[in-house]
Amino acid sequence: MIELVGFDGDDTLWHSEGYYQHAGAEFERIVGTYVDLDDAQTRARLLAAERRNLALLGYGAKSMTLTMVETAIELTDGAISARDIHRIVALGKAILEHPVELLPDVREAVEKVAAQYRVVLITKGDLHHQERKVARSGLDDLFHRIEIVSEKNGRNYGKVLAEFGIKADAFVMIGNSLRSDIEPVVSLGGWGVHVPYHVTWEHELEHGIEAGHPRVFVVHNASEIPGAVARCGGEAASI
Ligand SMILES: [Mg+2]
Repeated sequence: MIELVGFDGDDTLWHSEGYYQHAGAEFERIVGTYVDLDDAQTRARLLAAERRNLALLGYGAKSMTLTMVETAIELTDGAISARDIHRIVALGKAILEHPVELLPDVREAVEKVAAQYRVVLITKGDLHHQERKVARSGLDDLFHRIEIVSEKNGRNYGKVLAEFGIKADAFVMIGNSLRSDIEPVVSLGGWGVHVPYHVTWEHELEHGIEAGHPRVFVVHNASEIPGAVARCGGEAASI
């Protein structure tokens, strides 16, 4: 029997990645006035720098902003103007200020699941930004708890389960990222409901979960989430 249901936030409940992709494209446009974009491999260099900085800076828009500034200085060999650095900082601030726009049918889906199970929002990244998004989403009253973690790995999911006193096979995690939302939970013995989003950050594309995993269900609209969660419970009960 399922006892606890976790929801991811970014690109599962509300739009997020599109804002980062837009900032990345604008970053290229700014740097492109100094260097040949193809020769400089601007996008690849930015992604490599983001991944290098993850351990030190963590996830989120502030980390991306610092990394964009660092990469712009490196790619232009220090020639980038203070005015353009200012533009890059503004790109990062725009991500932090974007409105929280829920994906279709999300509120009804969370309400339905919350009527039957304890629900927890588990999101990663910058604490201040994530807290603001949760508050603006209007969904915070539906969750029993909100967990903002630095990394979505087995250790941190395990901690959440221990705090609720729940075994992994009584837990379902719902999210758009196989790497962050599904794989670590399934590895612990839990269940996953994968809701793919139309764009995914390259870093999140790397995962080790095979297609058609017996404890993972895929849905394409939030309205299908309650049914998928019920299937997890049914399958778990039959084992
Ligand atoms: Mg997400």
